[in-house]
Amino acid sequence: MLCPYCTSSEMKVTDKRDSGSMTRRRRECLKCSKRFTTYERVELDLSVIKKDGQREKFNRKKLFEGVTKSLEKRPFTGEEMDSIVDDIESRIYRIAKDKGIKSSKIGEIVMDKLKRVDKVAYVRFASVYKDFADIDEFRKELRELK
Ligand SMILES: [Zn+2]
Repeated sequence: MLCPYCTSSEMKVTDKRDSGSMTRRRRECLKCSKRFTTYERVELDLSVIKKDGQREKFNRKKLFEGVTKSLEKRPFTGEEMDSIVDDIESRIYRIAKDKGIKSSKIGEIVMDKLKRVDKVAYVRFASVYKDFADIDEFRKELRELK
């Protein structure tokens, strides 16, 4: 591994965090003192079972985009968003094991997490995900949050 700033290979790890399928390391270059984060991810062949019964490979990028879109302009740093997605991802892995996971279950896990971290993000995600049939249903959901 080389420092992305000066390409030196001398660096130290200042922090390490494990979250299920991922290890995150904060590194500091000993030459230029710049800091950066590296991620080591376990890629499991996790399949997502869609509504129509078809399977597709789990795609972290897709999950990440959906979640961060809901968190847009909310008071979270990039790192905090990362860790929210990490939590969601490790729950998905724990539940799915090698049997695969239903896409609806993933939606529930995301909503459950967002509900706890940010109500606005939750409503945003839920309104897209649940595709509320009518406005009354949406209002009811909002009332339950209060
Ligand atoms: Zn460097």
